[in-house]
Parts: sequence; C-alpha cells; structure tokens
Amino acid sequence: MWKKLALLLALSVAAVALQAPAPQVFRITPARPIAELRAEALKASPPAEAGTFRKPELVELITLDPTIKLDVRYAGPDNFLGTPVYEQARAFLQRPAAEALMRAHRKLREKGYGLLIHDGYRPWFVTKIFWDATPPDKREFVANPDEGSRHNRGCAVDLTLYKLTTGRAVEMPSLYDEMTPRAYPEYKGGTAQQRRHRELLREAMESEGFQQIENEWWHFDYKDWKQYPILNVRFEELMKTAGLRGGQLYHRSGGTIMAPTAHCPDPALTSSVRAVGGVLLWLVVTPDGRPSLLKVARPGASDAQNKAALQAAMACSYQPGGTKFQLLPVSLNLTYNPR
Ligand SMILES: [Zn+2]
Repeated sequence: MWKKLALLLALSVAAVALQAPAPQVFRITPARPIAELRAEALKASPPAEAGTFRKPELVELITLDPTIKLDVRYAGPDNFLGTPVYEQARAFLQRPAAEALMRAHRKLREKGYGLLIHDGYRPWFVTKIFWDATPPDKREFVANPDEGSRHNRGCAVDLTLYKLTTGRAVEMPSLYDEMTPRAYPEYKGGTAQQRRHRELLREAMESEGFQQIENEWWHFDYKDWKQYPILNVRFEELMKTAGLRGGQLYHRSGGTIMAPTAHCPDPALTSSVRAVGGVLLWLVVTPDGRPSLLKVARPGASDAQNKAALQAAMACSYQPGGTKFQLLPVSLNLTYNPR
C-alpha cells in the first residue's frame, strides 16, 4: 500500500512541479567573485553585542504547516547574485515569529491566499557576502554586516503571496529582491491588482506583529527582534543544535545540495494521506533536476512506522512523458528525532 501511496504522492508533486514557470529574477553584477567573498565572509566574525538575549529557538517553518510554500532563491542561481549562497533551501524563524507567521498564513487562507517564503533566518556571513557584493548605490537594499541584519536574528522574513487555486505566486509591483524604487511599499505604480496584493500581505503580517521595512514590500521584521542575538550558524549545523524538535523527520543532506523549491500546495492531498493512515514522511522528487519536497505529517507515528514508510517511498520512481521523476537517495539519510 505504501508503494501505491508514494507513487500517488510522487505523481501529484510531479504535476505541480511541471507547471511551475521559471521565475523572473533581478540581478546585479557582483563587485567581486562570490567564491572570494564567501571565503572571506566565512573567516570573518559577527560584531560583538552587549546585553542579554533570549535563547534562540529556530523553527523550520514547514514543520509547523505543510501548506506554507518555499521558494528559497538563495539556494539556487535565481537570485540577485546569480549564484547559490545557501547549501540548503530551508527557512527558519525564532519560534514566536514562526508561530505568528502561521497565524497570518491561516488568515490569508480564508481570502484564497497562502504565504510563499523566500527567506527567513540568514547566517551572518551571508549578510556580509551580500554587502560586499553589492555596488554602493544599491546598498540601501542590503544590511550592513557591522550592524547585522534582523534576518541574522531569526526575526525577519522575506515573502510573498501565492494563490490557493493555482499554487503560484501572485504579481506584485516589483520582483522579489528588485533593487529599484518599485520595491518601495509606498510605490504608486504597478497595476491596481499588484498594489492590492501588496496591501493584503502587509495587512495580514501587521496583524500578527510584523512590520514592513520601508524600502522592500517583501521584508517584514518581527516585533521581538531586539531580544535575539546575531547568529552565524549554517542551516546544516542547525539540526545538530537545539531548536529543532518535536517528532519531526529531518533532512541530513550529507553534503548534497538540496533545493526543495516547491512544497505540496494541496491541502486535500495532505488530508487524504492522513485519511488512509499516513505517517510522517518526507518525499523528495526531482523533475528535471529541480527537486521538490513534500511533507506529510501525522504526529504520533512511531519511529518504525516512519522508517517503513520511508523505505516504501524510496522504492518508487515514475516516468511521465519521458521526464524522470525520482526519489533522491539523499532521503535515506533521514534521522527521526523523537519528542
Ligand atoms: Zn529581507
């Protein structure tokens, strides 16, 4: 039965992935080669901070609600630098911010929309790469590493809306990460519908304690950002430290670049899996080398059940119209973290 179910899931994800158009991307010419900047940034240290801070508890957003969508552009080449800066396409926030974000997501659902996340917690060294790569006339759009970014504190999120009926991102007055005045929340241009989308996003986020930054419609700071320290922990390291917990299956990429760009946007699929007794399960499917990730959760499943489900899923592969869809072997490197 698991084989059948896994095939069904793979088919559904494949169909979703096939429909996804290539994103339009704003690009700059980096001031220096990114590989050079990266090596320097990894050697540098974040600014020292005085004062006392709350203990960080970074939560991976999709573990709170599988209908949250991810499009982590920094994990691939479709970003303003034209090259990956993250090794994994994942999004984390400090727990209170993550929970507030889920409430905003649920409010939007009543209006036919969901949240699509571009970025959350960002290690400090990445902020330094952004700053060093960006020409001075565009630096209003990147944080100064001497002060750190609110992303570094796990309290800022870059996001947009997707439409529940299509699963696709809505149009906004500018592209994400576009370093022009069109990115300003007060920009009067664009279509009435684009401005309406921007307003809908702002209203939902502000109602849950987030504040929009003055020059980027997609960037929101959570109200408690001052209470958290600047962090410089890479995503790969996060799962080894505290903060991720709660009976979840985690990816352990083992050095493989994971780019789960599309999450299953179909709540009906999730509930049908639950109806047949689905257990907690991650599936990775690759359509034309663009992996997708689907999470189906039923809290309370045993470790043995999860492992059995995973084995069955791994046995599945499918070839529609000559395009090979396959569960990546990297999914075998999963650990189950009991409560
Ligand atoms: Zn941002």
